[in-house]
Amino acid sequence: MKIYNTMSRQKEEFQPLEPGRLKLYACGPTVYNYFHIGNARAFVVFDVLRRYFEHLGYEVIYVQNITDIDDRIIQQSIDEGISFHDVAAKYTKAYFEDCAALGLKAPSVQPKATDVMPEIIALIDKLVQLGNAYEAGGDVYFAAQTLPQYGALSGKKLDDQLAGARVEENAQKRHPADFTLWKKSKPGEPVWQSPWGEGRPGWHSECVVMSQKYLGETFDIHGGGVDLVFPHHENELAQATAITGKPLANYWMHNGFLNIDGEKMSKSLKNFFTAREILAEYPAEAIRFFFLSKHYRSPIDFNREVIEESDRAVKTLYASLKSILSADFSEDEIASSANCLSSEFDAAMNDDLNTAKAIAVLFELAKSARNEKLHDELRKNNAYMLIKLGRVLGFFQNLRAELADRTPDLSRQLIDLIVAYRMDARAAKDWAASDRIRDDLARLGIELKDSREGSTWTIKEK
Ligand SMILES: [Zn+2]
Repeated sequence: MKIYNTMSRQKEEFQPLEPGRLKLYACGPTVYNYFHIGNARAFVVFDVLRRYFEHLGYEVIYVQNITDIDDRIIQQSIDEGISFHDVAAKYTKAYFEDCAALGLKAPSVQPKATDVMPEIIALIDKLVQLGNAYEAGGDVYFAAQTLPQYGALSGKKLDDQLAGARVEENAQKRHPADFTLWKKSKPGEPVWQSPWGEGRPGWHSECVVMSQKYLGETFDIHGGGVDLVFPHHENELAQATAITGKPLANYWMHNGFLNIDGEKMSKSLKNFFTAREILAEYPAEAIRFFFLSKHYRSPIDFNREVIEESDRAVKTLYASLKSILSADFSEDEIASSANCLSSEFDAAMNDDLNTAKAIAVLFELAKSARNEKLHDELRKNNAYMLIKLGRVLGFFQNLRAELADRTPDLSRQLIDLIVAYRMDARAAKDWAASDRIRDDLARLGIELKDSREGSTWTIKEK
């Protein structure tokens, strides 16, 4: 398998540290708010990477951190008028809910920064002992100049940063490129005791500790969004290299930006969406399809029309399965299905995770699964293969329920339409019309459930 390594800026043949085992770390959320749709892209990419290695027969140890102490968490606790513990607890819970809604497989380990505080302090202390870090006024900084290879991952030169530095920059730093390892706390902020007084760690040290604790000094792949290359990953790498003299990871993988209607997503432009908001509008598999239909390194433009197209594409895949399989399909037959397109799928994925090409293979399988000119056994085999490979990309998570639902698409759309008319009546406080629609639907066996977000419907079993 070839993987584009940000460090070497080229595709490299992947060689695991241990045969048959993948040690993967991807940066997780800072739990100060709901995560946005750009974070969701990164989570889906590394979820698929993990699923693909498992498909290849690897044992995958996937570690993703939860950063539960950070300036933004403290700010949010002031904004919401609750403790920083409560902010972290609230958004950690929301993070788990949204990941489940996105259909992400839970990582093997999800450590929290506050659970490894003694190890973080020990790491910073070691850097001070080695002369790679210095204390100034209760803060601790990493001295970037002590590491000749600093900047190798991001391609940033120390001199450039010197030239670009503003005059009013932190006067305690010896060099503008020096970065914070430990931060002295202000009154009222959460504190931990350290050799440099009361304070809290910087984000860059947390990830070094949490990755190495579960994966060792050097692991296979370190991943994250391209916005993390600098300074976050560069600074993680600097600390690890200063201590062990070895690389932190052998491969660095970064997914591209997500723009909204051609512009960078930002709160001030009001084009900022949380994953939760988007999941309320579209099915998770449509969002997944939307991400995976482009190469993970390419920037992606979040555009509602394209997501709607993605939704239709996923429905086409399901429709192909429905044309030949029923809900009592056998998992054994899926596991044992074989087809020449499987190697085409693997070839696409082996080429630096070309999911767009892999999806094209799924459509070839879908086409032959619904081809009535073919023998039923052949159609079934293609359908099984489609499920097997689709699952590698994280599709078909609710397959049995979908196949059990025999409501044809047009009927579904008509019911949705009638329910929408009823919502309009309710909005206009036309209770008579609203009740009549509900009762008429009930007579047809369609039950409505109203909530603050709107109405959902189910067909009563007869
Ligand atoms: Zn990180």
